[in-house]
Amino acid sequence: MNILENVDLRAHSTMRLGGTTRYYCEATDRMEVLEALSWAQQRNLPVQMIGSGSNIVWKDEGFSGLLIVNKILRYELFKEDETNVYLTVGAGEPWDSVVERSVQAGLTGIEALSLVPGTAGATPIQNVGAYGQDVSQTLTTIEAYDTAARDFITLPAYDCGFGYRTSRFKATDRGRFFITAVTFHLTIGNPEGPYYPAVGNYLREHNITEVTPATLRQAVIAIRSAKLPDPAVVANCGSFFANPIISSGQFNQLSADLDTEIPHWKHDADIKVSAAWLIEQTGFKDYHDSETGVATWPTQPLVLVNEAAANTTALLAFKQKIITAVQAKFGITLQQEPELLPL
Ligand SMILES: Cc1cc2nc3c(=O)[nH]c(=O)nc-3n(C[C@H](O)[C@H](O)[C@H](O)COP(=O)(O)OP(=O)(O)OC[C@H]3O[C@@H](n4cnc5c(N)ncnc54)[C@H](O)[C@@H]3O)c2cc1C
Repeated sequence: MNILENVDLRAHSTMRLGGTTRYYCEATDRMEVLEALSWAQQRNLPVQMIGSGSNIVWKDEGFSGLLIVNKILRYELFKEDETNVYLTVGAGEPWDSVVERSVQAGLTGIEALSLVPGTAGATPIQNVGAYGQDVSQTLTTIEAYDTAARDFITLPAYDCGFGYRTSRFKATDRGRFFITAVTFHLTIGNPEGPYYPAVGNYLREHNITEVTPATLRQAVIAIRSAKLPDPAVVANCGSFFANPIISSGQFNQLSADLDTEIPHWKHDADIKVSAAWLIEQTGFKDYHDSETGVATWPTQPLVLVNEAAANTTALLAFKQKIITAVQAKFGITLQQEPELLPL
């Protein structure tokens, strides 16, 4: 295992901001994870594991510990019967290639998550979701090193505390587990409707009547490519804010006060409000802030883009402008989705 020193963290966040990490290594299997952890423990250093950095923002002061980039590769299909297939993937597998391979195998269950950047091992962290699917619907188990048990463990999905864009890995047990593999239960066959509205529209407009995992993937790729920037080209972390969840009482009051139709979705007994709409209404649509060098993406104001930001401090200043404006106009506090590291 090769441990490097003083590595630039900008290469490890698709926002391309932040300081340096004191120590850096890549883990390609479970033994290397153990080796890295014991190396850090001997030196009393904090440890942070990441995938491809598409949902993190590094602080300008950098990280004083050991950064482990998960590069564990594995792709194994277990066909239980004519319908049910279990797919186990290494945590470091690029997520979209996992989706692509599962679709090519005629499997349904994760095709709506096409083109979500990042690694397979990061998908449980915020219960990655898009276009009507999230990983909690198909994930069965997680293999991870548990720093509390000091051993590798297998965690069933029901024990992951999944919720909307969250899990126990992001909440109570933040930093406790180093995920090495994830297993999904997929099925052989076609995805069943009703489809997510944007997907349904695309299928109708393109006269696609037989919806297969491949055609659904094709629809999602087309919709996402038209709407979202490619992080390999434009520095961004996807949605910078989660859609806020408010009580139906607060929602009804707000709708009456504003006398307008607020885009929303039902969320159990509560209401999930479109953060993109809230941001647009405060004048931040296609907004290019010369003061901070940060902009909102023209076709999706939820996405903050680093056009010319000098540092993370500038990004956070722009984020705060949006939060303050939305709070002042709607009384709703937007929450940042990408994690600010180190904690
Ligand atoms: C253009 C764009 C579009 C996006 N669209 C979506 C979307 O539609 N839906 C959605 O949910 N997200 C979306 N995202 C966010 C992002 O793609 C996901 O959160 C993805 O899962 C992050 O993967 P990563 O490997 O880059 O994780 P990182 O950014 O490297 O890490 C994210 C978090 O997971 C932890 N982590 C990563 N790997 C491990 C591991 N093996 N073990 C333990 N902890 C780990 C890290 O410590 C960190 O807390 C988008 C991002 C971009 C840039």
